[in-house]
Amino acid sequence: MIHYLDNSATTMVLPEAREAAVHAMCEAFGNPSSLHAMGIDAARSLKESRETVAAVMGCTAAELYFVSGGTEGINTAIFGAARKNRHLGKHIITTTIEHAATTQACKRLESQGYTVTYIAPDAEGHIAAQEIIDACKADTILVTMMLVNNEVGTVLPVAEVGKALRQKCPQALFHIDAVQGLFRVPLTPKKWNCDLMSVSGHKIGAPKGIGAFYMKREVRLAPYIVGGGQESGFRSGTEPMPQIAAFAAACKVRSANLEQDLAHVAELKAYLTEQMKQRLPWAKWNGAPDVPHVVNFSLPGCKSEVMLRVLESKKVFVSAGSACSKGKESHVLHAMGLDKARIDSALRVSFAPQNTREDIDALIDGLEAGAKMLRRK
Ligand code: PLP
Repeated sequence: MIHYLDNSATTMVLPEAREAAVHAMCEAFGNPSSLHAMGIDAARSLKESRETVAAVMGCTAAELYFVSGGTEGINTAIFGAARKNRHLGKHIITTTIEHAATTQACKRLESQGYTVTYIAPDAEGHIAAQEIIDACKADTILVTMMLVNNEVGTVLPVAEVGKALRQKCPQALFHIDAVQGLFRVPLTPKKWNCDLMSVSGHKIGAPKGIGAFYMKREVRLAPYIVGGGQESGFRSGTEPMPQIAAFAAACKVRSANLEQDLAHVAELKAYLTEQMKQRLPWAKWNGAPDVPHVVNFSLPGCKSEVMLRVLESKKVFVSAGSACSKGKESHVLHAMGLDKARIDSALRVSFAPQNTREDIDALIDGLEAGAKMLRRK
């Protein structure tokens, strides 16, 4: 039996999502653009899937575009906004705790003559809205920030930023990376004055390779992939119906169980915290998470990579940070000002609704055994 506690990296595909994908691959496999009955069936499924995902993204179906995942949505938003608004200015604001998709897109724009202001978090991983607002200038054309941090689970103040932008910086587009926010906090882009927002299917029980991009009706970024005119001409290419149908199926399951899932995950977090306090009281907690799905702690003296191997040998899977930073020092913990010893021994545990107390027991047993061995050395 495996104990998978790395759900911020990716999640197991839900049975309902798998069934929907297999059905779309093997039975209802028509092309939504075909005019015959099989095409019409596929087009209907596409429409229904779009409505389902739009409902959980807090937007209309006409404002939702299927893309390949969070990275594509983020790139689309950042490069699209920079291009659209280039006549208005070349200044962008983001934070130092973003996912690599945001940071790398910003770096590329810097190499093309844009300037980027990176706002740092406090020691707990929170970003002050006022610092973002203070950084706004007459030539600011984009503010891009995450909703929930993937390493420490803090929620960023998107509502406050969106409200202030409307007054102080109306020319700037506002993009939210909501990849870790979907089914953690309600997505309300309209209330947040948000123009663009990205989510990803594989973080919520859908397969990899599917995501959704919200673009407010009044904001028309230029299409960057042209061809057959799918996705209202914004992203051409035959729609990946198995992934889309699976994404919608996962959204339905997660929506139906939202309350119970949140309560269950909160209970798991409380259990983990209590067990850690009893059995590993010297652990140091990193950040002050606002959602219960992610916890981050350091076990000084136990290098993360080595502890990961110890846990893996017991079929317990957690991570040392973002899956995309593959062994590099966590830029999030670094931005929070933690010292090297603490960063080098950090572990991230992230829950999905399927997790159980047994997973946590296996984790704590593994950590205890690993710590005994590593600290002796
Ligand atoms: N943004 C955040 C906050 C993430 O955690 C991730 C994935 O780890 C991404 C973006 C990228 O999403 P995807 O893997 O779908 O490209």
